[in-house]
Amino acid sequence: MKAAVLYQANTPLVIEEVDIESPKAGEVQLRITATGICHSDLHNIKGEWEPAFPAILGHEGTGIVEAVGDRVQNVQIGDRVVLSFRPNCGRCANCVRGVPVICEGHKGSRKLMLDGTSRVSVRGQPLFVSTRLGTFAERVVCPEEQAIPVRQTIPPEVAAVIACCVTTGVCAVTNAAQVQPGDRVAVIGCGGVGLNVIQGARLVGASPIVAIDVVESKLAYAREFGATHVLNASRVNAVQEVRELSGGGVDYAFEAIGLSATIEQAVDCLRPGGKAVVVGMTAMGQRASVDAHKLVSQQKTLMGTSYGNARQRIDIPRMADLYLSGRLDLDRLISHRYRLEEINEGFARLERGEAARGVVVF
Ligand SMILES: [Zn+2]
Ligand SMILES: [Zn+2]
Repeated sequence: MKAAVLYQANTPLVIEEVDIESPKAGEVQLRITATGICHSDLHNIKGEWEPAFPAILGHEGTGIVEAVGDRVQNVQIGDRVVLSFRPNCGRCANCVRGVPVICEGHKGSRKLMLDGTSRVSVRGQPLFVSTRLGTFAERVVCPEEQAIPVRQTIPPEVAAVIACCVTTGVCAVTNAAQVQPGDRVAVIGCGGVGLNVIQGARLVGASPIVAIDVVESKLAYAREFGATHVLNASRVNAVQEVRELSGGGVDYAFEAIGLSATIEQAVDCLRPGGKAVVVGMTAMGQRASVDAHKLVSQQKTLMGTSYGNARQRIDIPRMADLYLSGRLDLDRLISHRYRLEEINEGFARLERGEAARGVVVF
């Protein structure tokens, strides 16, 4: 099969002919139909997250099940599945208490299968894969628990973006923060995830919804997805403007970039009792500082959330159904489509901040 292989940090992905083995017990094989180009992949390309090479990146994917290993119970050949980039063993304490995004049921590298080996290789050399997936490839073998069936009628590009940016953004609002109708919300960063935080806030009836970015085209998208106000942080003091627009600060400030400075701004945007919710992923080891006095005296909360605290088997099919019923706008989210051979162009555009979401379609 064809796959995009990363051999070293900060080099282009190379389209290669790659060998793939059949699924073992508890694993499924998919034909990938679409995969999104996410900022997390860019962190991996830059070598910012525990680099391991050579590797197939890609974690925002969807496909059709074409083979299943022994003891596979929840997925059948022919199913259309959205891939979860987080494990969910179903047995550890965090899974049992309903927080599978921080599943602790598996040991070992998340760049290899659960048995510590790889199913893909190039010229005999085993390849690492992002998040036990590696969706920048025509086929993927992965643990059954990461393949979540959705309705057959969902278009591949839409199913792909549900795998990461939609679920991360919408569920950050509905699950992690549990925003209520009328709550005041600010969203810092209007990329793929930030736009979905905005439409999640619209879905639950938040008001106002203040979107902040430094790129005008992203602020235009933010308005389309439900922002009631937009602020260009390169021209105005965003924190001060948010505090004025919301009558003294917002109830929830979402950070959807992954930078220390904007995490600090999110906390500064809050009214007493407010929560700052960090959704953006920073490089490893980054720290942010807060006004500790106000944190206590104003009872502010600073929290992080991965994958929007989604319960994959409930929330991923729910995102698909919300799209099919017209409550989530995912068609306009997909701004660019690429062939696998054009993937480096997709990353260049993401880095220039031009895309809402680019998707590779097979
Ligand atoms: Zn992602
Ligand atoms: Zn678990």
